[in-house]
Amino acid sequence: LFTPQDLIAGAELQLDEGQSRYLGAVMRAEAGDELRVFNGRDGEWRALVAKVGKRAVTLQIVDPARVQSQGPDVDLLIALVKRGPLETIVEKAAELGVRRIRPVITERTNADHTRVDRLRAIAVEASEQTGRLDVPEVLEPAKLDKLLDAWDEGRRIMFCDEAGDAQPAAVVLADQPPAPWAVLVGPEGGFSPREREVLRSLDSAVAVSLGPRILRADTAAISALTIWQSALGD
Ligand code: SAM
Repeated sequence: LFTPQDLIAGAELQLDEGQSRYLGAVMRAEAGDELRVFNGRDGEWRALVAKVGKRAVTLQIVDPARVQSQGPDVDLLIALVKRGPLETIVEKAAELGVRRIRPVITERTNADHTRVDRLRAIAVEASEQTGRLDVPEVLEPAKLDKLLDAWDEGRRIMFCDEAGDAQPAAVVLADQPPAPWAVLVGPEGGFSPREREVLRSLDSAVAVSLGPRILRADTAAISALTIWQSALGD
């Protein structure tokens, strides 16, 4: 990971083989071309292609282009769903500015297929495409009960509860404090009655409705994050 100290104006940066091949062979970069580099954490820098070698491309840093302005501290706790919808959820959550994505194992999820490395690659691609300067952290799947047992009370949970009589999310969030928050969305089969009872008993959790219809988990995750961002995001 390049640090801001590596990226001072005039510094030369040698790219690794994969990045060099992409720039040289795929993008046909030539010496003098201008591009932007970001390290997924601190910001974005303007750079020029200094040399396109057979095995390595060298860049020369021009100056910092944008300094990091990290979005609000909101996590997505997403119950494991089928691979396609899960990948969609990770991509859209990255676009919607989440800080961390926590895959969650609940009573009605099947956790045997989750490839976290693939989800992390999707998070990077979506972050590049959406122009954010940081990349959401994708954590290893964790059991809901374990997560809640060790829950940081300082982080409120927006619990998307399709089965209950929760108030509309926008109404509930209207008088809630800003970040840090977590948005929790259940699996295709929903939360079990026991899980719902545990979640509803938590002081740090607020149950919300996303409307009168039952949404697929990917639709629910995107809607919930959008409503959260419009109410409490920045
Ligand atoms: N158990 C549901 C059923 O009746 O078929 C399906 C669960 S839904 C596919 C997946 C998750 O999306 C739910 O656990 C909930 O977190 C969220 N969700 C879906 N529709 C919702 C709604 N209208 N209000 C709040 N959350 C919703």
